[in-house]
Amino acid sequence: MPPTKPTPLFRSDSSDDDSNLPVSQRIRSRLERANHRYNANDNISAFLKDGEVDQLRIEVEEKMAAVLRSLVIDTETDHNTTETAKRVAKMYLTEVFKGRYEPMPDVTEFPNVEHLNELMIVGPITVRSACSHHLCPIVGRVWVGIMPNKNSNLIGLSKYVRLTDWVMSRPQIQEEAVSRLANMLQEKVKPDGLAIVMEADHFCMHWRGVKDADALMTNSVMRGAFLKDASLRREFLSLMQRKSG
Ligand SMILES: [Zn+2]
Repeated sequence: MPPTKPTPLFRSDSSDDDSNLPVSQRIRSRLERANHRYNANDNISAFLKDGEVDQLRIEVEEKMAAVLRSLVIDTETDHNTTETAKRVAKMYLTEVFKGRYEPMPDVTEFPNVEHLNELMIVGPITVRSACSHHLCPIVGRVWVGIMPNKNSNLIGLSKYVRLTDWVMSRPQIQEEAVSRLANMLQEKVKPDGLAIVMEADHFCMHWRGVKDADALMTNSVMRGAFLKDASLRREFLSLMQRKSG
């Protein structure tokens, strides 16, 4: 093993700066050299150089135009579709999948100086995601329950929203989204107990016209105190229902 250099590793390595290669390929080879997974719901921001999201947007636009051509859509005379490839590329890179390309939002954590140890509930937070099977929208709500202890960090309410949005803005499946969010909050807040419930509508069911009745899916993660203490769990679930109105 060569000695490890300061992160990000690729910056010291100029071998991938072959500008003849498509930008996605340059990024992929950095990820592979670093042995870093790049599944649909992974964040790859540490492997992107300045300006590369814009380059990716242009590459995706070209490929998306080819998809429209293959769908036998006349993007030259159909004025509704002339800009579609461009719009879709922008939407993927900078809106609905931005949680793959943007670094984690800055979150200031505060020490729990008041030693708060009461159940806190955040939500419902509106979530927008996409299924990694069909790239169809998943839209729903998330509730977070935190049981802090004196060593926990506290984060502002709006930060829960920003962190949730960052995790959700990727193609994924709901179970994985919930457990990712749980891992991240566990690490940031370090609570005694953490509970997350996500309830979401899967548009691939509606749109494709299959199993409409099963389109709403609910997932939960219970950790620490919520796992051990059934009454705490009940308290969270009943307060959560009251908050959802
Ligand atoms: Zn799907």
